[in-house]
Amino acid sequence: MLGLMQQQSLLISSLIEFSDQHHGDGEVVSRRVEGDIHRYTWSDVARRSRQVANALDAQKLPEGTRIATLAWNGYRHLELYFGVSGSGRVLHTMNPRLHPEQLAWIANHAEDQVLCFDMTFLPLVQAVHSHCKTITQFVALCDADKLPEGTGIPNLVSYEAWMGQQPSTYDWPQLDENTACSLCYTSGTTGNPKGALYSHRSTVLHAYAAALPDSMCISARDSILPVVPMFHVNAWGIPYSAAMAGAKLVFPGPALDGKSVYELIEAEGVTFAAGVPTVWQMLLGHMAPAGLKFSTLNRTVIGGSACPPAMIDAFRQNYNVDVLHAWGMTELSPLGTVCTLKNKHLSLPAEQQMKLRMKQGRCIFGIDMKIVDAEGQALPHDGKSAGDLLVKGPWVIASYYKQEGGNPLVDGWFPTGDVATIDTDGFMQITDRSKDVIKSGGEWISSIDVENIAMAHPAVAMAACIGMRHPKWDERPIVCVVKKPGADVTREALLAFYEGKTAKWQIPDDVVFVDAIPLGGTGKMLKTRLREQLADYVLPGL
Ligand code: AMP
Repeated sequence: MLGLMQQQSLLISSLIEFSDQHHGDGEVVSRRVEGDIHRYTWSDVARRSRQVANALDAQKLPEGTRIATLAWNGYRHLELYFGVSGSGRVLHTMNPRLHPEQLAWIANHAEDQVLCFDMTFLPLVQAVHSHCKTITQFVALCDADKLPEGTGIPNLVSYEAWMGQQPSTYDWPQLDENTACSLCYTSGTTGNPKGALYSHRSTVLHAYAAALPDSMCISARDSILPVVPMFHVNAWGIPYSAAMAGAKLVFPGPALDGKSVYELIEAEGVTFAAGVPTVWQMLLGHMAPAGLKFSTLNRTVIGGSACPPAMIDAFRQNYNVDVLHAWGMTELSPLGTVCTLKNKHLSLPAEQQMKLRMKQGRCIFGIDMKIVDAEGQALPHDGKSAGDLLVKGPWVIASYYKQEGGNPLVDGWFPTGDVATIDTDGFMQITDRSKDVIKSGGEWISSIDVENIAMAHPAVAMAACIGMRHPKWDERPIVCVVKKPGADVTREALLAFYEGKTAKWQIPDDVVFVDAIPLGGTGKMLKTRLREQLADYVLPGL
């Protein structure tokens, strides 16, 4: 027997229409690229999102067209979130921190047709536009009178000229809820970057789950500062959950330093902020010496990399701010677990509570997880057995965009490449990573790319890149090199060899010359053995 309830697609357009109708005067505040503060309301977001949708219709761009962005967290980016996806196109948020070659590769792979960019990235767009074969329209996110002449970029228009004259009414299409809405590439896999293609359904379900009390607990009483970029898995879905809840949104624009973030938190009554540990390190580094305190901030969600216990402590003890340690992935939209205590834990001594808070947390409803051994056998949830972490759920990818890399699933489960334990209360803790990538300041560095560049040097016989712990960046890459017999290269010359071949921050911090790289039976480099050999190694400058 079927239930007799209405069938209504879960659509991104309904989020913005909801916030317009029920939270129309709710504020959205942005620090602009120009440096000033822009202030308007959810009704303004809705109105201008409809204008974006009309602008895309006017260009006759069919459903599914990929519209790329290279932009900071700001109100125009937010309008694109709703206008592009709501009208049936796919919002492709690109990471401006990538090397121009990588960006062009991704834009071509996605077959983007329009690129909207903040003026900060004008030089980047000037460098890549001629390599982006499918982009026919460039939109600079600025006022009409701020558009510079003679940029050399064809079909360049200012955002305000592009959408500003469009009607502010729009009939959002009643799409199938499985329609694609946004695309985000991740470099956290081997080989070329791969795209996670989200649907309206997965995004709206994730928005509900992310707002739950034991997730991010997002409500109409919140003022939320997503420091996590909108080009990192849709700022962890916060724009959607904020629209659903009618929360105030505060965008930091390009100013991510401790002073600017602190001032915005205080000026805008921010109650909840989200970001990777590196961002909070900069914030606490600014506050501690000056003896500054928060007036309104009551919680932060910290994820993307393991949150150092000292940071959880500092926020709680010195600032009375609760830290929600969270784990997720681009492939999970991104939320998988959030660390909130259960009732029975509240009476535990402080140090036992701290042990729990350091874990990556419990599954939010919708995500299922298990850990398995090398044979794929499920391991017990005893808090000790560590195994490969697999997940499934309605906001986990079934396949990468264009089926790159084949079927990623194992019996319907997505292998995360993380190694973890799960305890009897369901708290998951990451203990290691089986994927061969390094995460520095929340951004991926492919060890294979680092090795390939070294191997291209005529004096290098073999290269192995490994990540080393770093107090600010969490991890930094170093490259261990075996020289060819009779050939020579210095550390400095090899590091100089990386210049221009990869983004600056992806260049290894050091070269360590070794006689041999330990190899396994199948000829695979044994990086765990290499790490053991370098147990006493200290990164330069530490
Ligand atoms: P991304 O797809 O860039 O969001 O990266 C996802 C990966 O970042 C995960 O598979 C983990 O390796 C790592 N990660 C994310 N959150 C955490 C966390 N709280 N602790 C440790 N590693 C994390």
